[in-house]
Amino acid sequence: MGELEPDVVALLRKYALQNALEYDGEGQVGSVMGRVMGENPDLRSRAGELTGFIAKQVEEANALAAEMGLEHIRSLLESESPDALEKKVKERREGLATLPNAENGKVVLRFAPNPNGPLSLGHARGVVINAELARMYEGEVILRFDDTDTVVKRPDPEAYALIEEDFTWLAGKAPDRILKASDRMDVYLEHAIRALNENHAYVCECSGDDFKQFRIDKTECPCRNRSSAENVSLWEQMNDGSIQPGGAVVRIKTEMTLPNPALRDWPALRIQHGDHPLVGERYKVWPLLDFLSAVVIIYKESLISSEERT
Ligand SMILES: [Zn+2]
Repeated sequence: MGELEPDVVALLRKYALQNALEYDGEGQVGSVMGRVMGENPDLRSRAGELTGFIAKQVEEANALAAEMGLEHIRSLLESESPDALEKKVKERREGLATLPNAENGKVVLRFAPNPNGPLSLGHARGVVINAELARMYEGEVILRFDDTDTVVKRPDPEAYALIEEDFTWLAGKAPDRILKASDRMDVYLEHAIRALNENHAYVCECSGDDFKQFRIDKTECPCRNRSSAENVSLWEQMNDGSIQPGGAVVRIKTEMTLPNPALRDWPALRIQHGDHPLVGERYKVWPLLDFLSAVVIIYKESLISSEERT
């Protein structure tokens, strides 16, 4: 890279700082490039030459943000290029952000409360934002009751109707579809068996504390290398009641070295012997929300078609 005119360097620095501020210290070269070219047409013919310089400025701005904080970036811009801050204020929008790549008529949103009681004030935001986005895009909102915790957040049979009523009042219209996670138990369990058979999951009998330590140490627990046949046999014992609640969970195999500790072999299903108000005592193993949601998303099509059949 050769030398750049000082005024161009200052310009690139301004956009890099502005971008770092707007994206919480994670400015992007592409985004800065777009803005430099969009607002300075005379530089467009030099895009190739400027890429490296922009990358350097973005790196510096992000490092500054990490080291000194966003307030420092803001005060730098205030003294060096106050116009870049005005831009940010001008861009602050009112109302909801538009959804990238959303197509009218094809947007589907879901509001998924646990029916262990009536909605709280905190839920209102979820209902209102989802309903408003559905209105903007002529889409639909699914009200999904996440009711697969039979013990800690045991479903309240009256809450289902109360929540539907409050949803309708807040959204100005009834939900387009209503699903109950507990209706899909066979689907979750089917996918759990499949994951065990295909070695994407394992039955873990470690205590919560022990596993927490494995997670901290980034080491694999002794259960991780069981054969799929052993896993399936333990799975059967979880389901027939021979293993008691707390005695085992099914974990999804990720990697124990992932940067986010919560993702290290996360628990997907656990034993609960509670009596579910809608499903009764038919099941002893229940999915946790992460697994439930993943199955709903991946197998959305098959779920919807089975929904239509019923
Ligand atoms: Zn284990």
